Amino acid sequence: MSDYDVIVIGAGAGGGVAAGVLAEAGKKVLLIERGSNLSFEQVGRDHLRNQRLSQYGHNAGPDIEGNPRTDEAGRVIRPHESGYQNNAATVGSGTRVYAGQAWRFMPQDFKMATIYGVPDGSSLADWPITYEDVEPYYEKVEWEIGVFGDRDTMTHLPPYKKDYPMPPLDLPKKSQVLKRGLDTLGWDMMRLPRLINSVPYNDRPACIRCQHCVGFACPVDAKNGTQNTMITRALASGNCTLRSETVVSRLMTDSSGRITGVTIIDDEATVNITAEVVVLSCGAVETARLLLNSKTKQEPYGIGNNHDQVGRHLQGHYYPGGYGLFEEPIWDGVGPGATIATAKFNHDNDGIIGGGMLADEDIMLPIIFWKNAMPPDLPKWGSANKAFMRENYKRVVNVRGPVQEISHPDGRVTVNSVVTDKYDIPVAHLSGTTHPETVRTAEFMKTKAFEWMKAAGVVKMWGDTPRLRLSGGQHQSGTTRMGDDPVNSVVDKWCSVHGHDNLYVADGSVHVTNAGFNPVETIMALAWRTSENIAKTW
Ligand SMILES: Cc1cc2nc3c(=O)[nH]c(=O)nc-3n(C[C@H](O)[C@H](O)[C@H](O)COP(=O)(O)OP(=O)(O)OC[C@H]3O[C@@H](n4cnc5c(N)ncnc54)[C@H](O)[C@@H]3O)c2cc1C
Repeated sequence: MSDYDVIVIGAGAGGGVAAGVLAEAGKKVLLIERGSNLSFEQVGRDHLRNQRLSQYGHNAGPDIEGNPRTDEAGRVIRPHESGYQNNAATVGSGTRVYAGQAWRFMPQDFKMATIYGVPDGSSLADWPITYEDVEPYYEKVEWEIGVFGDRDTMTHLPPYKKDYPMPPLDLPKKSQVLKRGLDTLGWDMMRLPRLINSVPYNDRPACIRCQHCVGFACPVDAKNGTQNTMITRALASGNCTLRSETVVSRLMTDSSGRITGVTIIDDEATVNITAEVVVLSCGAVETARLLLNSKTKQEPYGIGNNHDQVGRHLQGHYYPGGYGLFEEPIWDGVGPGATIATAKFNHDNDGIIGGGMLADEDIMLPIIFWKNAMPPDLPKWGSANKAFMRENYKRVVNVRGPVQEISHPDGRVTVNSVVTDKYDIPVAHLSGTTHPETVRTAEFMKTKAFEWMKAAGVVKMWGDTPRLRLSGGQHQSGTTRMGDDPVNSVVDKWCSVHGHDNLYVADGSVHVTNAGFNPVETIMALAWRTSENIAKTW
């Protein structure tokens, strides 16, 4: 008899949903999280140390010391440093401090290879499931976790069966001004859906429209992460035990290679815990690392990795766009920020593979304004720089959005056999890049962001040029992608690892492609679908 019915590793977006659905279905669940369960005060409000701008540190983990990763230049990178591809490590993970943009992927996003073909050198593939398979779970996430929005503006998607449970927030001034641009161009305009209470919902209050949304915890708890929804429900069911500040070091197997549980490190001691089923929800980098670090006689290169697929196809989102200067002040200080968007360029762009969504981005803290948004012809310091900031902080907008990345098998996670973390576990090694087609799509989307701002009346525009690089970060996905064939995928269409009927993945790793939209609603929806199936099967 096992210690638990199900062990879920990682209490983030996917793991939080999995724990909630399984515990409410009556399963005895152990939810293990390496980070701690942070209070609002512990997350903190330091503008230089947060998950949006981690200049000198961050506020939602992992601990800066003892958790390095390495890259192909031979650098040992700490979690808050560039190139680490961090999301977060705390109960709720990224959902504790996210912006909560809550997008459904489009039907076309599940069929990228069929629609566009497979570019040379790319591993672009179709999903083994369709939009229709995920649609009921999108609706569950929107209602059970809580999303505001307006389905009538989501004209790029098949009609919704049910509207969002909460109406959108009023448009702040910058969105009203930018809307003029969309109207002039005749581009469709969506009210941007977010996992935030626009009215009191689920016994928590409405958003107070403050300026510390993305990168911070919500001061009134109006933001809906897994820590205050599905994990709370899991614990309330009496069927779930949450064990934070506990690291899973490897998956346990019996002599036939069958999964029997996990090995955890608890107060520096190694403890084995057994379960009928194990669900990996560690995020795309750490889920791959754990599989690769769990070698057996049957799978000497890591569990699920007999076809060298674990850790490959790592992707996230290029986020091209630009800044635009208006003559009149357009910033009224009303949060949370991004409120309108267009999906006009997610597909059907001549000569381009896929595309992306564009939105009026979230509020810029003054230091982020200085770090990222200064025009290139302005000195980075001195009186001219200060004068620009003083005069224009309220006049600059930021329009950008995520681009559908073109999978590349060499953008990947392996493990470093020399560098280990504070528990002596080999760390994740990151190498390769995305496919060059991603850069072309990003360049195209940047021109569209500029067209939008120009039509809205900006007097000057600037922005970075997209360059080929590895992508992952907060939107990391793809490292255990779904498919029918074990030769080019790691999990099947129910997110069970090929050859292991009791080992599942419920996080961004399973995304075959990551669409041109922020991924978290899809991660949550798939975790719901996977967990419902586990509850039925086991
Ligand atoms: C500032 C910020 C803003 C964001 N805004 C948005 C947004 O607006 N919209 C959107 O779609 N997405 C957004 N995201 C991204 C979103 O949070 C992620 O897509 C999502 O959290 C990923 O879910 P996941 O289940 O794949 O992994 P995670 O949520 O990262 O969960 C993984 C968890 O597993 C734990 N873990 C890892 N390894 C182990 C181990 N060995 N043992 C125990 N525990 C382990 C980690 O500590 C972590 O808590 C944002 C993220 C951040 C940080």
